[in-house]
Amino acid sequence: QGKQVQLNLAIVGHVDSGKSTLSGRLLHLLGRISNKEMHKYEKEAKEKGKGSFTYAWAMDESSEERERGVTMTVAVAYFDSKKYRVVLLDSPGHKDFVPNMISGAAQADAAVLVVDASVGSFEAGMEGSGFGQTREHAQLIRSFGVEQLIVAINKMDLVAYKKERFDFIKTQLGSFLRSCGFKESYVTWIPLSAMANQNLVTAASDARLSSWYRGLCLLDVIDSLQPPLRDVSKPLRLPICDVTKLHTLGMVAVSGKLEAGVVQIGSKVLVMPSGEFASVRSIERDSSACSTVRAGDNVAVSLHGIDPIHLIPGGVLCHPDFPVAVAARLELKILVLDIKMPIIIGSPVEFHIHHVKEAARVVKIVSVVDQKTGKVSKGAPRVLKSKQNAIVEVELDGAVCVEEFTKCKALGRAFLRSAGNTIAVGIITRIFEQNA
Ligand code: GDP
Repeated sequence: QGKQVQLNLAIVGHVDSGKSTLSGRLLHLLGRISNKEMHKYEKEAKEKGKGSFTYAWAMDESSEERERGVTMTVAVAYFDSKKYRVVLLDSPGHKDFVPNMISGAAQADAAVLVVDASVGSFEAGMEGSGFGQTREHAQLIRSFGVEQLIVAINKMDLVAYKKERFDFIKTQLGSFLRSCGFKESYVTWIPLSAMANQNLVTAASDARLSSWYRGLCLLDVIDSLQPPLRDVSKPLRLPICDVTKLHTLGMVAVSGKLEAGVVQIGSKVLVMPSGEFASVRSIERDSSACSTVRAGDNVAVSLHGIDPIHLIPGGVLCHPDFPVAVAARLELKILVLDIKMPIIIGSPVEFHIHHVKEAARVVKIVSVVDQKTGKVSKGAPRVLKSKQNAIVEVELDGAVCVEEFTKCKALGRAFLRSAGNTIAVGIITRIFEQNA
């Protein structure tokens, strides 16, 4: 154990499409939730008159238990496939899930888009007021630069596992996904039933499905994903999620996910944005001590030789010779979500990136772009409306640690909020660095 590559998988899709059921099922089938626990959830769910929600229930319950909070912010559960340690992002049990879903999606290497195949439900996910959540989530995931997508066409039991229904959904949603900029070769379609356990971790047993579907089951599709690039050869980047003062005098621990490079006991690190140096005293990975950690690992690192006031969530541990950028003006490529008020120049927003948020304003709308081709379709518009893709510039009240998305995904994915709603998501395309 421990040698496996970590794959952060976001489970997204319309409310009630079966995200929790699917996640709960996978965790149970792969031994992460015991039969005993499962029976307990079953009993509780039945008592509450929610028998059909057993697996979803398990997800809700275990998410709290699993959330030890030391090294991960959003991850609630994981299982091991042949190739990966698959971390399921987001807390699918929550109905008010858009913000959760976004913070989960911001860490995703790949995503499973769960679609309810039953007649009417798929259609509702595609239409509805606003975007239709299926469409909205697909666009959102793509706007965060996620390229690999598994479309889990769920509840096939409700449509008698009919190939025609699967093909219909694939055609409809497929053309939409292409218009979002997903490449066909990076999208895998799979018919399944989370409830009836068809096509999850083994080939379907129901002849109505196995008679025509010859592809991989979900677990094997996950294994067929391209491994995420974890650049150990790039300079160290450890965005700080949490800071804990230790009892030992002069020691302080920081935790987060190592996004690039390597850390060893004895390493000298540069702490940004303060510009102070510190030395690594000890390292924990998945709660056990070790001497070296590398990109992709969730770690806690204890430091000495630094005043704890210089360590804040949102800071970044860097290679001493390669500090991360600290900037207050940024260019972003965004997708505008469903908004009531258009975004205009001067619109106040709350800027969120890795483990930090900062008050900001939109100071320039550079252009509107076509999500599929990336081409500018309208130069310098005055307002931005729902569903538009655009290049904008934002000015932050205070500088934050950032990097261009193409250099470091985790430090280059951001979202904008206003009055309690997420209004746009996107990536950093340009940094206006502050003069040192
Ligand atoms: P979520 O909101 O996307 O997390 O959806 P849930 O997992 O809570 O599921 C919503 C409802 O759909 C629950 O009543 C589930 O039991 C049901 N459900 C989920 N998957 C399936 C499936 O494959 N077949 C059928 N028939 N029902 C399902």
